Amino acid sequence: MKKQSNIAYTLHYNLCTGCGVCEDVCPTKSIEIKRINGENRPILNNQTCLSLKCGKCLKVCPGIGLNLLTISKNQFNVLNEDKYIGHYHSLYTGYSLDEKIRFHSASGGMVSQFLIYLLEKGIIDGAVVTGYLEDHITPSSYIARTKEEILNAKSSKYCPVALNKIGNEIKNSEGKYIIVGLPCHIQGFRKRAEIDKKFRENVIGYFSIYCSSNRTYHAQDFLLKKYDIQKQDISYFSYRDNGCLGNLVVKSNSKEISVPYINYYGNLRSFFKPRRCLTCIDHYGALADVCFGDIHVPPFSEDKIGISSWIVRNPFFDELLKRAAKEKYITMHTLDAKTLNESQKTMLYPKQRRAQAMIKMDRLIGKETVKYDFELEKPQLKDYIAEMLCQIQRYIGKHPSLWWIIDYLYDKGIKK
Ligand SMILES: Cc1cc2nc3c(=O)[nH]c(=O)nc-3n(C[C@H](O)[C@H](O)[C@H](O)COP(=O)(O)OP(=O)(O)OC[C@H]3O[C@@H](n4cnc5c(N)ncnc54)[C@H](O)[C@@H]3O)c2cc1C
Ligand code: SF4
Ligand code: SF4
Ligand code: SF4
Repeated sequence: MKKQSNIAYTLHYNLCTGCGVCEDVCPTKSIEIKRINGENRPILNNQTCLSLKCGKCLKVCPGIGLNLLTISKNQFNVLNEDKYIGHYHSLYTGYSLDEKIRFHSASGGMVSQFLIYLLEKGIIDGAVVTGYLEDHITPSSYIARTKEEILNAKSSKYCPVALNKIGNEIKNSEGKYIIVGLPCHIQGFRKRAEIDKKFRENVIGYFSIYCSSNRTYHAQDFLLKKYDIQKQDISYFSYRDNGCLGNLVVKSNSKEISVPYINYYGNLRSFFKPRRCLTCIDHYGALADVCFGDIHVPPFSEDKIGISSWIVRNPFFDELLKRAAKEKYITMHTLDAKTLNESQKTMLYPKQRRAQAMIKMDRLIGKETVKYDFELEKPQLKDYIAEMLCQIQRYIGKHPSLWWIIDYLYDKGIKK
């Protein structure tokens, strides 16, 4: 397939992250995001697409890759640079000083609490967040304009989320907004900001949550089947609630389960990993103004209520975080790059090498693949093996008739 001017190229080579950013920029409404095989995918209407006369969707698409290094250098005029973290201003750990927010969020409730601070001080008019709107288990994105709306989006959703139908709402609203998303969402919006002045002016910041990889909706289906819960009976679902690292909490008409994060998440292994995550290199969110995540090393990992780490790339937000701490919304302490990276080491250190192994294997079979503006780390034999094993697991994950294998390994892996 020749390089095209629209996202047919992304779809043809299986490069789509499902971010949803393309839908909103299409002037002829030729794109609609739908769920296909457990992931979000754009459906393209070739009859109405302007193709070569337009090309906007491909311009904002993060799936095909982007000039990560150049955009990051231009965006953040900061001194510090780290092989894994990228360009940054400062690093911290801390948490929300509201015990309830801290306990019921993913890690320390920092994303929710900082957004609440910015809203209450009139610095922003709203924030794009992801909560359960349609039902209790299918997350969707919306603009939160109140504290309650921010808190309705608390905690992590380990499933695909498309941030479509949001970009234009921001562009057409008066006010200042923050966008919260995964690194690939932020890449897409940064690309959009480059070609859309009004959108750029209305977004005063991008907050990313770290992301080693996502899970398709089949992971959710597997868990519900495993614990014998009917989707339609669910009244509450959270991938992480009640402390840190927290529990998978599901409440339905007939039962309630609470499974420790350490017992279920790791045991899903790579069975439900989306394909595009295998070639993603952006663990922390290289283009976000502030990036939030867990911190999995002692003494922080001894905390059971909630604790976050975060990377500040834009000094404007460093000042605001310090003010939020002074006004007792949050507590924060500086962190060093080595500790942060060590806390993410299992997924972070091999990420570039494994992505490059996958990219090379794709090229070998003649596939176009993701492109960045710098040379990725050279893969080792173990990276090729890991990626091939991952592909076998993904095959099993895509076929429910083979889920007995996952079930068997899941039970074996549960820590007593
Ligand atoms: C798929 C995925 C992979 C992750 N991988 C890692 C990792 O490898 N290492 C690590 O340290 N942390 C990882 N995280 C981040 C971590 O789980 C927490 O989200 C982070 O620590 C922030 O916690 P908090 O308590 O400060 O945020 P909260 O106050 O709980 O707020 C979380 C915010 O994240 C947004 N959000 C949640 N899920 C999604 C989603 N799927 N897409 C877009 N926005 C979303 C919500 O809108 C909410 O505003 C991952 C999160 C996800 C969703
Ligand atoms: S090329 Fe333009 S008209 Fe066609 S789908 Fe993309 S954005 Fe829409
Ligand atoms: S913009 Fe996002 S959803 Fe659209 S094709 Fe690209 S990666 Fe997929
Ligand atoms: S690993 Fe990369 S592509 Fe996959 S969900 Fe995370 S940020 Fe997006």
